[in-house]
Amino acid sequence: MKDLTRCVITPEVNTEGFKSLAVGVHRASTIVFDNAADYANRGARGPDGYSYGLYGTPTTRTLEAKLTALEQGARTFLVPSGQAANTIAVLPFLKAGDGILIADTAYPPMRDFADTDLDRFGVEVDYYDPLDLSDLERRINSRTKIVWCESPGSTTMEVQDLPRIAQLAHKHGALVGCDNTWATPINYKPLSLGADIVTEGLTKYIAEHSDLLLGSLTVRDERLVAPIRSTLGRLGISVSPDDASMVLRGMETLGVRMQHSSEVAMSLIERLQASEVVERVLYPALPTDPSYTVWQRDFTGASAVFSVIFKPGIANHVPSSLDVLQTFAIGASWGGTRSLVAPMPVKGHRSATKWAGDDLILRISVGLEDPQDLIDDIDAVLADITSRVRVDR
Ligand SMILES: *Cc1c(COP(=O)(O)O)cnc(C)c1O
Repeated sequence: MKDLTRCVITPEVNTEGFKSLAVGVHRASTIVFDNAADYANRGARGPDGYSYGLYGTPTTRTLEAKLTALEQGARTFLVPSGQAANTIAVLPFLKAGDGILIADTAYPPMRDFADTDLDRFGVEVDYYDPLDLSDLERRINSRTKIVWCESPGSTTMEVQDLPRIAQLAHKHGALVGCDNTWATPINYKPLSLGADIVTEGLTKYIAEHSDLLLGSLTVRDERLVAPIRSTLGRLGISVSPDDASMVLRGMETLGVRMQHSSEVAMSLIERLQASEVVERVLYPALPTDPSYTVWQRDFTGASAVFSVIFKPGIANHVPSSLDVLQTFAIGASWGGTRSLVAPMPVKGHRSATKWAGDDLILRISVGLEDPQDLIDDIDAVLADITSRVRVDR
């Protein structure tokens, strides 16, 4: 063999006895075959075999298997983002003339996808009150193919009664999808409560380090596997094994991170609630929250993302007060090691329900910094807002 060829062809080394606790990063577009007959018969390897990098590598399959076990589902697919998980969860099951019913509190880009693309393709898009089963019952019809849930809802944190929603949807022959990014499968298992498809923004808590984007969808029933797999193939969607391995690494500590951050969140919430400028904190794990009963029944824990509503007329002071923050960063997304705040508008993202309060909610995500530094930050922001309100008066 000549040197130029040696540079290209990789020698095989002995891997016997190499059992690492880490998952190897297997990169591939091409998969090679031992002989021409194997190549010709590659279709016979089936979906669990390997034929082309687009359809999976041992690294991505490992993450999929881990998520399938946690979600208690039949099969998981990885996609490039949580938003992609949501769109791919519904695309294979809709055609012109069908209907989709979406919780009014769904992740705003999901609404945008439905209003722009599904509508353009002739799908009837409607929204329902996430807390009002009779509203859903009024809107569901024989054309409805999917009832989309997100629990708790984006920003306003309403927990849906998934078992009853699923019962109603299934009676009408519709599938139920649920975005589980807030709780993660550690704290909520939508598939065991009646959902047919569950999606995760792995980007958030499961990956944790604010350095990658990835999403997953898991189905309860084997019959949903083929339509999703073939849609992903036709659209040419696949994920990097490097990203998958980062998620596998991050998720080993998911349980302790969630436990810790939710406890710290509760102590920050107590401080916020005691402030004269705060009207209410939206967090289903609070016994005073309207969603507490259903949360307690269906969830085994909480994450550390919550929303703050200020007293009337105060919200316009909030954005400039965020400049006093020392430890919290200002930014979108959440669920990372770094604590984050983001002022969120709500009104423009609601159509089946009306948002009556000020159009600014402060979303807070608690990370892993020293709790005292976070408390000091919250105290400083509250003091700054209070002083601005006094000057205003
Ligand atoms: C952030 C988020 C997503 C999307 O995740 P990306 O990976 O950022 O696309 C989906 N659903 C909810 C509820 C989210 O908060």
